[in-house]
Amino acid sequence: MFGAIRKESGGTRGASLPNPDEARKTFTWEVAEQMLDGLPGGHLNIAHEAVDRHVAQGHGDQVAIRWLGKSEHHHDITYAELAERTARFANVLMENGLERGDSVFALMGRVPDLYVAALGTLKAGLVFTPLFSAFGPEPIRTRMEIGAAKALVTTETLYRRKIAKWRDEIPSLKLVLIVGEEAPEGCVALDLAMAAEPPDFEIARTLPEDPALIHFTSGTTGRPKGAVHVHKAVLYHAVSGRYALELTPGTIYWCTADPGWVTGTSYGIISPLVNRVTMIVDEAEFDLDRWYSTIQREKVEVWYSAPTAIRMMMRAGDAAAKPYDFSSLRFLASVGEPLNPEAVVWSNRVFGRPFHDNWWQTETGGIMIANLAAQEVRPGSMGKPMPGIEAGIVERTETGLKELGDGEIGELALRPGWPSMMRTYLHEQARYDKCFVDGWYLSGDLAMRDKDGYYWFVGRADDLIKSSGHLVGPFEVESALIEHEAVAEAGVIGVPDETAGEVIKAYVTLNPGFTPGEELEREIRGHARKKLGPAVAPREIVFRNTLPKTRSGKIMRRLLKARELGLPEGDISTLETDET
Ligand code: ATP
Ligand code: MG
Repeated sequence: MFGAIRKESGGTRGASLPNPDEARKTFTWEVAEQMLDGLPGGHLNIAHEAVDRHVAQGHGDQVAIRWLGKSEHHHDITYAELAERTARFANVLMENGLERGDSVFALMGRVPDLYVAALGTLKAGLVFTPLFSAFGPEPIRTRMEIGAAKALVTTETLYRRKIAKWRDEIPSLKLVLIVGEEAPEGCVALDLAMAAEPPDFEIARTLPEDPALIHFTSGTTGRPKGAVHVHKAVLYHAVSGRYALELTPGTIYWCTADPGWVTGTSYGIISPLVNRVTMIVDEAEFDLDRWYSTIQREKVEVWYSAPTAIRMMMRAGDAAAKPYDFSSLRFLASVGEPLNPEAVVWSNRVFGRPFHDNWWQTETGGIMIANLAAQEVRPGSMGKPMPGIEAGIVERTETGLKELGDGEIGELALRPGWPSMMRTYLHEQARYDKCFVDGWYLSGDLAMRDKDGYYWFVGRADDLIKSSGHLVGPFEVESALIEHEAVAEAGVIGVPDETAGEVIKAYVTLNPGFTPGEELEREIRGHARKKLGPAVAPREIVFRNTLPKTRSGKIMRRLLKARELGLPEGDISTLETDET
């Protein structure tokens, strides 16, 4: 066990919620409403809240996006410029015959046009879906079919490589906008089209329940689902950014997620802009020195990242961080996968701040459970439910749900009713309906609440291992494994066994300087046995160069398992790394 981290400096100082436990008791949604502006007649539009109202309130000159191009190229976009560019973009959509509610897809890297397209689409009252630019042609095509894409914004290279061949087979697709001043036949050059449009646009009078975004889930457990989110979600993006990420006007904020993953949209576009921060957008992929120097040079104050990246930094060691000045950092948060306790302790040592874990899903649209600034951090715990969020641990029974008590492991459930909750899975109403039982939303994750109200992640319901009468969550085993100095990452599965039911098998990647071999395997198994006891320690350890992961950086245990058992691989459209 790692000890709790009470923050001596930077924790409570400047915290937006000095007393989170008290705030949980007194919270009402009016707090969130007061953070917004609204449009006349009860209308609400995310783009207005994120961009235009700041300009109207005199903050047009503040930098909204500081874009760091791959090749040392920096470019600042102020709120006023963002308002203007999104207006031009909205005009382009209207000019090309698109209508309210139509679906607009984006396929490009983290370039300014992506952010303009997202907010411009919302401004026009259309529905936005971002895709990872690294997706292959098939995942792009199926998602565009499911979402009935009317328009696509992309680059010429991506268009030629991934779209051109089948473009005519998507009957809904009317308009393809190509970033830049030139476009292949049948497409429109975005820069020219925008230049020809006026720089103002009357923001669509959307209603709070009008669809705004369709976000596909990561596909960790199976076929990705298209979660539909509405404009009202902005209420939750406003308040959760403030409380869970400590975003205040002028904060220098860096979310490392790509908008192809929900984190990169909710907290990489909407929440930060609604809270009027200056956000850093880095076009490049993870690169240790680049990341460290970005924090130092840009004086990043709030940093939102994910366990997969944190483990890469840990793998490079403390020495790699030494030359840099991290004194600007005041709050660090992580999401996407369980954050190993080792990572929290490591970051506290190296950055002088712990990473604050938080838990949520594409479906929930926003952070549900979090370690807040003014709250003791218990390494390995996801934290406590956000103000306004009621969570519970439940068990499915034949007659409905049974609520479990502190210390019991069950499914993590939430009481529906917060603004950023999905409104359906696109074209999969039955799958959506199945998520709700007895007035609870069931997350599909297993967790435990301790007597102080902290929630501890156990595993995804599908990943749970039953070994010799024990229920084992892979996270516990993986966390123990990465405490060993040789282990960088671990993915753990259960393999059928006649006597034990299932035995535990671990796939691990190693830190630099360690060589795979029988001796090391024995040593790591010995370490795990000491930490976990013989029943829960892995029976076998396999060394790999990488673990299979989704594009959002999640270990795909189901794929490790399918391969182990020689079963079909299922939907692997979001698979990123994969090398044995
Ligand atoms: P799919 O639903 O398609 O299988 P996915 O669940 O990975 O994919 P996301 O919505 O991106 O898609 O991820 C949400 C899931 O990520 C959560 O249900 C949980 O399993 C995991 N997760 C997110 N944050 C945390 C966290 N802090 N600790 C543990 N698990 C987390
Ligand atoms: Mg999921």
